[in-house]
Amino acid sequence: MNVILEELLHKHFAGGDVPLNPDLVHELDILLNGASAAQPETSKHSQETGALEELYHILWETLNLLGAETSPVISDGETMPSILHAADMLHTECKNIVQNEQHTLRETVHLKTIQSVAKAGSWDIPVSRDLSTVQNYWSDELFHLLGIDPSATKITYEHYLSLVHPDDRGFMLEEVNRAYMETGRYDTEYRILPGGDPNNPRIVREIAEVIKDELTGEPVSLMGVTMDITEIKLAERAIVDANTELRTLFNTMNEVFFSVNVEQDKLLQISPACTRLYGYAPEAFMKDPFLWFSLIVDEDKKSVHESNLRLSQGANSQVEYRVRHKNGQIKWLLTRMRPTLNVAGKLIRIDGISSDITERKEAELALANSELKLRTLLENSNDAIVIINERLDYTFATESIGRIIGYSTAEFIGTSMLDYIHEEDQGFIAHSLLSLNTKPEEPLPFEVRFRAKDGHWVWLEGVATNHIREEVIRGYIVNFRDVTEEIRYRRELEDANDKLKRTNTELDRFVYSVSHDLRAPLASILGLIEYTASETNEEDIKQNLSMMEESIKKLDVFILDILDYSRNARLEVKRTPIDFSGLLIDIRNSLKFISTGNSNVEIRINIDEDGTFCSDRSRISIILNNLISNAVRYYDPAKTSPYVEVTVVARADVALIGVKDNGIGIHKDYHPYIFNMFYRVSEKSKGSGLGLYLVKETVEKLNGDIQFTSTPGVGTEFKIYLPNP
Ligand code: ADP
Repeated sequence: MNVILEELLHKHFAGGDVPLNPDLVHELDILLNGASAAQPETSKHSQETGALEELYHILWETLNLLGAETSPVISDGETMPSILHAADMLHTECKNIVQNEQHTLRETVHLKTIQSVAKAGSWDIPVSRDLSTVQNYWSDELFHLLGIDPSATKITYEHYLSLVHPDDRGFMLEEVNRAYMETGRYDTEYRILPGGDPNNPRIVREIAEVIKDELTGEPVSLMGVTMDITEIKLAERAIVDANTELRTLFNTMNEVFFSVNVEQDKLLQISPACTRLYGYAPEAFMKDPFLWFSLIVDEDKKSVHESNLRLSQGANSQVEYRVRHKNGQIKWLLTRMRPTLNVAGKLIRIDGISSDITERKEAELALANSELKLRTLLENSNDAIVIINERLDYTFATESIGRIIGYSTAEFIGTSMLDYIHEEDQGFIAHSLLSLNTKPEEPLPFEVRFRAKDGHWVWLEGVATNHIREEVIRGYIVNFRDVTEEIRYRRELEDANDKLKRTNTELDRFVYSVSHDLRAPLASILGLIEYTASETNEEDIKQNLSMMEESIKKLDVFILDILDYSRNARLEVKRTPIDFSGLLIDIRNSLKFISTGNSNVEIRINIDEDGTFCSDRSRISIILNNLISNAVRYYDPAKTSPYVEVTVVARADVALIGVKDNGIGIHKDYHPYIFNMFYRVSEKSKGSGLGLYLVKETVEKLNGDIQFTSTPGVGTEFKIYLPNP
């Protein structure tokens, strides 16, 4: 390179402010070398002058190339200043070019960055009839959006359309046409399929403008920007969905949501559930901002007010209170609220949610009531309940133990059961525990002596049940009461009873022996009367003797009755198969010898027996004897055919006996007394008044039952039921 040129270039371009443009240097070099090759050297001076002029021309040619006017002619002696001037001009020009280039470069980088960040590709489509051939301009980002390799050669509008979602292609083309024909621009959204993949559509917004020829006004191209707004759209959709969900929730939830502008005392919103909760629609609350407070039950207004105070201090608050529903029903509400304070710390807004907790509250109250009832019952009962664990320590006791054994629950719980049980009852306890554990389902009754706090022994009676396996109990539940008094009374009763039994037996024996001993002298007297009567002819004496005989026989019957009674009371029941037929025939025969005043009473006997009924023969004989003899004795003289009808139905398990007569009958006023000892309906009665008493006692001894019906003037019927045990 020309030395001077080199110096000049270095001086003007390599000064640091403008970098040497290699292309320019190269071009200058070619020009310079070309010029010097074309100009043969003559003399040193002329050579130098020629070279400088050459340089001047080269500089100007370069300046011309860069757009400067035609080069001015060098005036004489002005070669060097002209060169320097040209070089300055070139320097300035180059500096401008480089700066412009740098600016353009920066703009391009900016544009690319913007497109990439905004996911927006730009394009330019020249107007053409043939969409398949016309070449478009696509920015790099557009290639990126469409998922195509930027080196793809066939960048046509048709190609672009093939990547638009088939369903959106129609309206997208309509937009383009409308822009050409009418509007000159469009702004629309549609789906594209990057890389042609139908499974991964993206949503784009496209803004385009028709570029027109300035002179003719004809459209020359369509220029636009296509932005990927998929994420924005998805976010928008998510927001819409979330909003819809929230709104649905707001409208359908049982809880009442509300927001209040505290500064203006204005209800901002209240969810429709308020209609169910209060009986008033949201509009009613919107209209009257104090409606909600007026519905609160007076007694609960204070707690709501206190909750509001907490809110004004910036704290979340929760309050339970009652409100009066429009229909008069009282409802329990739980309201949770969150305050919003302004920068000055003043409450400006409350957001809250109210739930109907009536059912829970009522259940709680019912539970508390029933708990209270149960506790009151337990504490006031004469019974006590304790729980004993597997180590036999008390783990629970009702307060009522204080009344029974004198201990407080605090003193009692934790101590061992065995410390209190009487030595003689310890064995029973051990046995009880064994049976409680072997048969846990069976409650175990007990009666033990227990040492009370004051050292006295208390008899406790109760029941223990095994709940060892139950998680909550883990022990034996024992309920008991103080039966010390009862036991003392029972013991006394048992003693008295024993004594009574002994006296009774002695009395029975005494009655028996007296009755028995009385019969022997009576038999002697009867013998003497008979002898005396046979020795005299005097009618008076005979009559007196006959009366004496009758009285003594009556006395003998009475003694026999007493003996029967005594036997019934003393002797054990002795069961044998009963032959009712034989028994009744014997009775009928024996009655013939009894003075009845009328031997015309017919005794009818109906028997239905299979010979398997077992009972005490002598007792059945006493029963039948007394009933039949009564029926004969109390016959009705007014009746032409007096009778007594005995009916027996006897089977293996039961015997039913009926004794029916058509005698004088018994007035109903006497019915309650006829089974009483020594009871006789009238003084004229011929018996001792012991007969029916004896019958009843004997029937009862045989575990049977006796009933009767009787009507004066009609007759009497006794019915006896006897079981065969
Ligand atoms: P008594 O030894 O007086 O017969 P009972 O105890 O056998 O005593 O009978 C009580 C009373 O019941 C009798 O006095 C009699 O008046 C009445 N009585 C008992 N059986 C009959 C009967 N079959 N018909 C009418 N009255 C009867």
